[in-house]
Amino acid sequence: MKKLTTFPYHRALVLGLAKSGKAAAELLLDSQIETIVNDYKADENSPEVQELKQKGAKVVTGSHPLSLLDEADVVVKNPGIPYHNAIVDEAVKRGIPVITEVELAGFLHEGNLIGITGSNGKTTTTTLLHAFIEADQQPVSIAGNIGEVASEVARTTAEDETMVVELSSFQLMGIETFRPHIAVWLNLFEAHLDYHGTAQEYFSAKANIAKNQTSDDYLVYNADDNDITSFLSAFKCQLVPFSSKKQVDGSWADEEWIYFKDEKVMAKKDIVLVGEHNLSNILAALAAAKLSGVSNQAVYDVLTTFGGVEHRLEFVTKKDDIYFYNDSKATNILATSYALKAFDQPVVLLAGGLDRGNDFDGLIEYLSGVKSMVVFGETADKLTDAGEKAGVESIYQVETMDEAVRKARQSAVSGDVILLSPACASWDQYRTFEERGNKFKEAVHKL
Ligand code: ADP
Repeated sequence: MKKLTTFPYHRALVLGLAKSGKAAAELLLDSQIETIVNDYKADENSPEVQELKQKGAKVVTGSHPLSLLDEADVVVKNPGIPYHNAIVDEAVKRGIPVITEVELAGFLHEGNLIGITGSNGKTTTTTLLHAFIEADQQPVSIAGNIGEVASEVARTTAEDETMVVELSSFQLMGIETFRPHIAVWLNLFEAHLDYHGTAQEYFSAKANIAKNQTSDDYLVYNADDNDITSFLSAFKCQLVPFSSKKQVDGSWADEEWIYFKDEKVMAKKDIVLVGEHNLSNILAALAAAKLSGVSNQAVYDVLTTFGGVEHRLEFVTKKDDIYFYNDSKATNILATSYALKAFDQPVVLLAGGLDRGNDFDGLIEYLSGVKSMVVFGETADKLTDAGEKAGVESIYQVETMDEAVRKARQSAVSGDVILLSPACASWDQYRTFEERGNKFKEAVHKL
């Protein structure tokens, strides 16, 4: 297991013990860095606290005493802890760097480091890019928001290994030295404003992904997103655009093909993954893959089989010439509208769930290709309303997922799509959107 050898600090304060905090503390301790772990809620007697103490950490629970900063040259903050927290504020005031765990991964990993960020599509793009590189028989690992903690993964990566890291804006805010060789910036929507304060802070956090890049590095960016292109002049790296709308000097698509620069990569008709938004994700992953030396054959092998990340417009199966898709992750109108835009065929839509007090009028314009709806959960009546306003031919209200799938099957004919894209959170009937998606898939397989 690798240790930190070039880390410029000797005393670290780790704030927040959740998954990534523990991994960071262990790494620091193994690297002989004096480490204090401070967590408001952690249980003093829990096995993980005991373990860290045994390894030599000082552990402080129950409060965040500002005096802890007297013993720290650096703060390693859990991404979930806001910057407006008193101890973080004080660290900033004293000029003590506040970093997140992912930065430690940057000190450990010697090979090609690829960081992916954006408001939407991170998991899909990260998964795709990892698959492209793997299909090309290159050593590769995946980390970050998706899967394992980055600093833990980086402890065992080989020198010639590529590490693909999914990065949230929370992780990016505290960037000091993190420098991906290839950064991918997918899109920019004004999300998470409650955490970041202002839209400007949120935008700047995302832009941090390229802050330390040099002319040896690349930024793959969405040329269709004007908010992103307005940031570009600030960067020193080489810029590689992707676009699903126009020809660019990077990856792009026309009606029939996807391209990298002026090279045809593969025919669009052979791609299994559906949706305009996924085409964007594919093009982003393609550009990063080509910069990493991946062959067109490897890209082809993945895109002709990859049916999407589980619960995100995931292709489930085809039965009696009817196509089933699970988009349980779609917990709002925007996500469901993307899913509906992905299909030219008639759709039977399964929707409904937790009532957050909103109406579904925003969905009406996207329901034109929907031949019938099967609705359930707290929002069943509101969705019925929206369906009627859109002129959907038949709308059924049901109680369970089994019933919903049976009803949908009855109203579908050869060539149709049956789509679970609930436009609502799942918590009225299920613990998580994953549980809801799994119930859907079980019901489909039972048909
Ligand atoms: P993230 O990891 O950023 O949350 P996911 O890949 O898990 O992204 O996708 C989550 C949802 O976001 C999808 O179900 C889809 O509705 C939407 N989405 C995915 N990619 C894009 C994109 N490029 N642009 C807009 N929306 C997207």
